[in-house]
Amino acid sequence: MKKIIKNGIIVTASDTFQAELLIEDGKIAQIGSNLSAIGAEIIDANGCLVFPGGIDPHTHLDMPFGGTVTKDDFETGTMAAAFGGTTTVIDFCLTNKGKPLKNAIQTWHDKSKEKAVIDYGFHLMISEINDDVLNELPQVIDEEGITSFKVFMAYKNVFQADDETLFQTLATAKDLGALVMVHAENGDVIDYLTKKALAEGKTEPIYHALTRPSELEGEATGRAARFAGLANSQLYVVHVSCEDAVQKIAEARNKGFDVWGETCPQYLVLDQSYLEKPNFEGAKYVWSPPLREKWNQEALWNALKCGQLQTIGSDQCSFDFKGQKDLGRDDFTKIPNGGPIIEDRLSMLFSEGVKKGRISLNQFVDLTSTRAAKLFGLFPKKGTITVGADADLVIFDPNVERIISAETHHMAVDYNAFEGMKVTGEPVSVLVRGEYVVRDKQFVGKPGSGQYLKRAKYSMNTPLNQGETLSIK
Ligand SMILES: [Zn+2]
Repeated sequence: MKKIIKNGIIVTASDTFQAELLIEDGKIAQIGSNLSAIGAEIIDANGCLVFPGGIDPHTHLDMPFGGTVTKDDFETGTMAAAFGGTTTVIDFCLTNKGKPLKNAIQTWHDKSKEKAVIDYGFHLMISEINDDVLNELPQVIDEEGITSFKVFMAYKNVFQADDETLFQTLATAKDLGALVMVHAENGDVIDYLTKKALAEGKTEPIYHALTRPSELEGEATGRAARFAGLANSQLYVVHVSCEDAVQKIAEARNKGFDVWGETCPQYLVLDQSYLEKPNFEGAKYVWSPPLREKWNQEALWNALKCGQLQTIGSDQCSFDFKGQKDLGRDDFTKIPNGGPIIEDRLSMLFSEGVKKGRISLNQFVDLTSTRAAKLFGLFPKKGTITVGADADLVIFDPNVERIISAETHHMAVDYNAFEGMKVTGEPVSVLVRGEYVVRDKQFVGKPGSGQYLKRAKYSMNTPLNQGETLSIK
């Protein structure tokens, strides 16, 4: 059914304007004033902003880790994402050494197909490069539309790839048209420091942070960026947490290297002191990289403001405090890493960023949606409001105040990392391809309605080189 959104202020990464939107066949068919309302449902967005749906480029739904599995799967995770104004997620598909990549990808399709309520794509983890992998990668790109690879420089003996593998992945991705994503921490030194801490009886959550100092993130970020420059390839550094890593990204970009950086809401508003909360509560705040000393937050905000970091991911990776995080009660290395952020990503950035004057409204849209669409081969179908684009839209009340709490959130996990924090702004209604998923703050979507997205190859010059032109019909 046709829909017309009236009376809202439309915000894209470049413009802010008052107009009506006509939605037809799941796409934005017209943008204008006094549009013909015959046969159309009218949506009154008076007092609200209308954004392109958020794109979360970094989620771990239904992912096995450390002897357990993340609490939120593709159903609860994407429902919570929708409540938070996100209409597309790109999730990390884990692979197993020595096994065909297509098996891993099939596993991820099985996890998501009947469950997702918003659209989704996959990044593919690369842990080894050999003839089998090299033979399979062109199909991964052409048939599955998976155009981004993830390499871990940390988690020794679990996910960690060596430098040779990272460099080969960068060189291969250059040839194939994929973007290489790295988790940049020096896993070897961290392995030494964690063993040493445990041998000294240092088992509490705070030692998770103290054994992963920011120097080791800066070092790995700089190393990966130099490899990208040497391979003349493209690199995206996930979850940048500290000034040290920001500087390495800025340095690489100043040299003309094709290097991008993402940070996450948790690094912008939480800090290392949370890991010292009593009664093991610090475990709720165990991420890798860890939360940093508070002064890093200003560096991260400035990097977002001046474009040294370009995207905001959630790194959604939720584990219950009771029954999962407590696997590490006697040993911080056994605390499952990660937290529940998918739902609050936009609200936190809007409230702490836009409302507090740290970033502009248009930067907010770029950081939470448009830039990720461009980098990950979804633009202009996703990530903007223009004629012919998918009608993935968020109707957002910028003035409502609320308190974030696990009692009211929609994630399946038993705590919220931002518990008790007051934020300004909340999505009222969220549409995916023109259909309501959230309507007046109520879930009206359907598990399985989310579509798998085959993504275009990486190109610096999006979208012209992608060969896609939008049309209404
Ligand atoms: Zn992650």
